Amino acid sequence: MMVLENTGSDIFKSVGQLLAKKHSNIVIMPHENPDGDAIGSAIGFAEILQNSGQNVSIVSPNNYPGFLKWFSSGVEILIYENHKKDAIKKIQAADLLFCLDFNETKRAGKLEKQLLEFSKPKVLIDHHPLLLSFCDYTISEPAYSSTAELIFDAAVQLNLAPFINYNAAEALYTGILTDTGSFSHSISRANVFKVVSELLKYGINTNKVQSNVYHNFSAERMKLLGYCLNEKMEVFAELRTAVISLTKEEQLKYNFRIGDSEGFVNYPLSIKNIVFSALFIEKEGLVKASFRSKGSFSVNEFSRDHFNGGGHLNAAGGESNENLDITLEKFRQLLTQYKYQLINTKI
Ligand code: 5GP
Ligand code: MN
Repeated sequence: MMVLENTGSDIFKSVGQLLAKKHSNIVIMPHENPDGDAIGSAIGFAEILQNSGQNVSIVSPNNYPGFLKWFSSGVEILIYENHKKDAIKKIQAADLLFCLDFNETKRAGKLEKQLLEFSKPKVLIDHHPLLLSFCDYTISEPAYSSTAELIFDAAVQLNLAPFINYNAAEALYTGILTDTGSFSHSISRANVFKVVSELLKYGINTNKVQSNVYHNFSAERMKLLGYCLNEKMEVFAELRTAVISLTKEEQLKYNFRIGDSEGFVNYPLSIKNIVFSALFIEKEGLVKASFRSKGSFSVNEFSRDHFNGGGHLNAAGGESNENLDITLEKFRQLLTQYKYQLINTKI
């Protein structure tokens, strides 16, 4: 059964040829503000390539949350934001660049320039709906739950299956787990479970993964969640929407660490009849937005059209250059424009 809908065997043949030479310097780049899928895919693929005899480094545009810093893997991860010179040197010395879990150069954040200027072959492996590829070789499969699920199938197609090991399986499993919200969405295809069942054969400890990812927070983070739901959540029942926002002062009060608000945007969707949830977080010089939806309401389009962002049909992100109050006001105004769509959203 061929589950890769968009990627012909010619792409795998070409990428396979690029990987035929051993001891190549390969850089794997996840998107900015990497999540479990971006980091899990990057580590998983890096492990596989390293085992097959390549020199591999992951170069991330910026840092990633503590709940993703426990992998068994020892693959080098360079954070551009913290080690600019080393990161640039690494990219400049690379023979081949893999871009994972993003679909436009802007998502490389502060590494966008390096990405655009990279003159050796670039390969994209991603599951977001693709607008226009910026790579020489494109493996883009929006039907996949996660880039991690896709990495597994791509590795098989590239004859790299013998190089999948425990560390790779653990990282790829984590990518699938986090991008499906612990197997609660994007799981309608049998292939997700097929890949997971293959990964389990490497002896990974799913309890360990679950604890490290989901039971790894500070007490302050838990209290912040309580505060958000109790005091900050606005419900627009007639518009089937809920919104939460956090100012810088509120983050300071709860000793906010990167990743602390991960998942907060999902909670309002468990309110009966709510189909659209938004979270706005005040950052240095901008407001970061997260959007989630149920059914036919496309937060990908909403974010693309109004918040300079994108993502998937039911999970997207974006940003605003206005202050938090103005951003929230703009959002409320937009909701009224979307009233008809929201009311008629089919779950
Ligand atoms: P999150 O809300 O968890 O940050 O992101 C949800 C989804 O939207 C992820 O697939 C993520 O890659 C994507 N996403 C988040 N922020 C942005 C953004 O600023 N631009 C685009 N194009 N996608 C984003
Ligand atoms: Mn993903």
